[in-house]
Amino acid sequence: MRAELDSRPGSSAKPNEDWAAATNRIAVVLDGLTAPGGLGTGCMHGVPWFVERMGSALVANLADDDLDMRSALAASIDATARIHVSTCDLGNPGTPSATVLALRERGESLDWLVLADSTLLLDCTEGIKAISDDRVAQVNQAQHEAAISSDTDTEEHEKNVSLLVEAQRLVRNTPGGYWVAGTNPEAAAEALSGSMSKVLVKRAALLSDGAARLQEFDVASWRSIMDTLESSGPRGLISAVRDVEDSDPKGRRWPRYKKSDDATAVYLSFG
Ligand SMILES: [Zn+2]
Repeated sequence: MRAELDSRPGSSAKPNEDWAAATNRIAVVLDGLTAPGGLGTGCMHGVPWFVERMGSALVANLADDDLDMRSALAASIDATARIHVSTCDLGNPGTPSATVLALRERGESLDWLVLADSTLLLDCTEGIKAISDDRVAQVNQAQHEAAISSDTDTEEHEKNVSLLVEAQRLVRNTPGGYWVAGTNPEAAAEALSGSMSKVLVKRAALLSDGAARLQEFDVASWRSIMDTLESSGPRGLISAVRDVEDSDPKGRRWPRYKKSDDATAVYLSFG
């Protein structure tokens, strides 16, 4: 397995809340959930701190082939919570949390896990599989519509995004809501996970939603995104995303929460 990765913040004004790592047989991408200014989190550390610790713990736990993917994630959520349980209020509904993508080569198999709405692409003999859990899009739809109804650079937009996040927090990591990796290890049981024979997979990609926008905007198919990754690498894909976003800075053609989101791509090739 060969890996290439790139991760870029959505703007130079804020730190990157995505995190990625790749070894010769493990790849992980986390997309930390942004807390709008004014909404507390109960955590003195912040989202970049959180995703780095969670991601590092996950890479370490995935190194143990006897741990299945969900068990490795549950152990990582638990270990990360323990680091700040004595300094931070982990019961705060805005406590730092993240979407998770993970892939592991284990002997002749590839194990994978997807929690929440980042996307795993597997280019298999029968075509490209795009795996993502979009439960977050099934809840709070009125707040979502309000949040994308105004230009991205307005105060009204900022207020509506904040109201959306407030509403999301009420259903985050609850039955009937949607699940992310925060402080509750039970979230790992909600992740999509599977295993397949390595010989069936030619290429794979792990994309945070900020790097998957060409497909979301209907500008590119998953196959053409995979081809861009192969020819230009994660750096080339993210540059293409930024070019498209720059052509619609206020989010009128492609309504969205932010002009540009943190974007992360890991490209993997096999054989
Ligand atoms: Zn903390």
